[in-house]
Parts: sequence; C-alpha cells; structure tokens
Amino acid sequence: MDVHAQLQTAWTDIITTYRPGTIEFTGIVLSQVVGFILPATVYMLIDTLFPKFSQRHKIQGARRQPTRHQIQHCIKVCLFNHAWIVALQFILLYLRGFNHAYLNMEPTVPSLKTFIVDCIFGLLAREVSFYYVHRALHHPSIYAYIHKMHHKYTTPVAFAAEYAHPVEHLLANVLPIMFPLYLKGAHFLTVMAFGVFELWEAAADHSGYDFLKLPPAELHDLHHEKFRVNYGTIGLMDWIHGTDVVGWDRPKAKKVKTTE
Ligand SMILES: [Zn+2]
Ligand SMILES: [Zn+2]
Repeated sequence: MDVHAQLQTAWTDIITTYRPGTIEFTGIVLSQVVGFILPATVYMLIDTLFPKFSQRHKIQGARRQPTRHQIQHCIKVCLFNHAWIVALQFILLYLRGFNHAYLNMEPTVPSLKTFIVDCIFGLLAREVSFYYVHRALHHPSIYAYIHKMHHKYTTPVAFAAEYAHPVEHLLANVLPIMFPLYLKGAHFLTVMAFGVFELWEAAADHSGYDFLKLPPAELHDLHHEKFRVNYGTIGLMDWIHGTDVVGWDRPKAKKVKTTE
C-alpha cells in the first residue's frame, strides 16, 4: 500500500471515530508541540549539552548570548502565548460546538499536487502578510507599545520566536500562517503539516545557529541585531522592497565633486 493510501486509511479511521472539533483542537495542540516546543527545546539542549559545538555555530558571539535567567523568562512568556492561543481555539470550538470545525475536514485526503500547491500558496501568503504586519509594527508611533518586546533579544534563541506582545503574537505569528490557508479552504491535514513546518522555521530562524542554510537563519538573526533590515521570512519581500541591506533607510551620502 502506498503512503497516500495509508494516510487515507488512517484519516478515515480518525474522522469516523472523533468529532471534527475534537480533531481540530487536538491537531492545533499537537502541531504547536511538534512544530515549535520540541524543536525549540532541542536547540536549547544543544546550547547546554554541547557548548563547544554551540559556540562554533552561533551566528553572534558568546558574549552577546542571553543569560540563563533571560532565557527562562523568554520560555515562560512563550509558553503563555501558546497557552492563550490554545484556550482561544478551545473557546471558539466550544461556542460553535465540537460537532463542527473551522478547517476543511474533507473525508478524502488531498492529492500530493493539491498539497504542494496549497503549501506554496501558504508560504507566499505568509511572506507577504508577515512582511507588511512586521513593517507596520516597526512604525515609530506603535513600535514601543507592541514590537519592542520581541526585540528584547538582540541575540535570539529559538524560544524568542514567540517572545512577543499578545497582539503581535496573534497578528504576526498566528494569522499569517493559519488565515490564508483557512480562506483558501485547504484541507485540515495540509494546514497542520504546513503549520508544523512554519513553526519549526520560526524556531530555526531564532535559534542563532548557522548550520542550517534552509531556512536562512542569518536573515532574521540580522534583523534582531540591526532592527531595520530583513522584515520578511524568506527574503522575497525584502528583495522586492530593497530592505534586505542594512542602511536602506538612510539618506544616501551626497557625492562630493572633486576638482583636479
Ligand atoms: Zn524575531
Ligand atoms: Zn522586528
């Protein structure tokens, strides 16, 4: 039996056994644990258990790394953000009734082609929406109230990906990943797989490690170090807007004519 057929059998078992709302809620919790909490914990364990390897592969120097106390604080805020998003999801499902789900629970598992098309759409939609929300959060009139908190860690660690004000967590972290695929009507399994990938990507982007070139962690690490550069996730929107170089927003130095 091929993988698609095995997946179909497992999915048929799940949807004939559990209510749609229960499946959706379980999927949301599992995707956050598998996509973010576990990988972020592994990155933190590398810091602790393999300090020499860690120092060799950290993008920024050892003296710039956050203290143990700062990391503990970061993890607490991050887990709080996960908890309230899960609670919100539970309330929304409770109000609607667990016999319904918000995501597409089609009995047929999507084909590989549909899965790939939906993931590419999700990737591009997240890049565009995250870029503009993130740039808006850097606007001087609102930066201090919301996004300054995320920039507390100028040398990020994996958990710092979700160290954010609740408004930012919803607008910049959760909605750009979930909402475009929800609007497109992508299958629940696609949304879960895509969510796991994007959450891991956020953890890797903030891990401070250079040993994975995909995703290119250097881009977002530089954003934390220099602030006004690399607002997007994959570099596409920064390339289009020219915000991929430090100093893009400074007035160009006037060329001084020299006379012989
Ligand atoms: Zn960040
Ligand atoms: Zn920022």
